[in-house]
Amino acid sequence: MLDELLKEDIKSLGIMGGTFDPIHNGHLVTAQAAAYQYDLDQVIFVPSANPPHKTEQKITNAEDRYIMVMLATMNNHKFNVSRIELEREGPSYTIDTVRVFKELLGEVDIYFITGADAILEIFTWKKAHQILKECKFIAATRPGYSLSKLKDGIYEKYRNQIFQLEIPGLAISSTDIRQRVQNKRPIKYQLPSAVEAYIKKRRLYLDT
Ligand code: ATP
Ligand code: MG
Repeated sequence: MLDELLKEDIKSLGIMGGTFDPIHNGHLVTAQAAAYQYDLDQVIFVPSANPPHKTEQKITNAEDRYIMVMLATMNNHKFNVSRIELEREGPSYTIDTVRVFKELLGEVDIYFITGADAILEIFTWKKAHQILKECKFIAATRPGYSLSKLKDGIYEKYRNQIFQLEIPGLAISSTDIRQRVQNKRPIKYQLPSAVEAYIKKRRLYLDT
């Protein structure tokens, strides 16, 4: 996968990290809007193996989450999926992932794409200040979260590194989708139909 990426002439890369348990249209709309707005050559989805902040919660095994991300991104030529965090031992830290891509691709502009909730937690991430120096961030609006905090406080220092992206609000979350599946409520149109079919086939989220 990474070798294939290297073959192409990439000048700007978006990285979309997440647990993707499961991937949904909120993730896809965010990645697409970021790619369009910032003229990104590729957006690479990076499913997390052992998210350090989600150790309390039961997470679907990494291969199922990876397959769902593959299914969701297969018909967009700008979208790709990386197994980098799945194959790394121990917890996944964004700083390590960003550094691997920088090393592999050399002089590329890297944009790490997040939703509003994730950017507001960035200072809980390992080496947050370092990450903010090494790549730019695109922070998409997300219903229920305000980006107004980005104007002041600790964020002030990084105002040239964090770009806000207004997207059509999609009040979709993986947590809600998991609960819907468990409660036998519909999830149709909240995520790609191939992902919905895969959830059914593998009987995911029935007893979370
Ligand atoms: P969970 O409810 O399990 O936390 P989630 O829907 O928040 O799942 P994650 O895998 O945690 O999905 O999120 C990955 C990234 O996608 C994060 O940066 C998050 O902010 C962003 N994101 C997720 N859903 C949306 C959405 N509806 N709109 C904008 N950004 C989103
Ligand atoms: Mg989340």
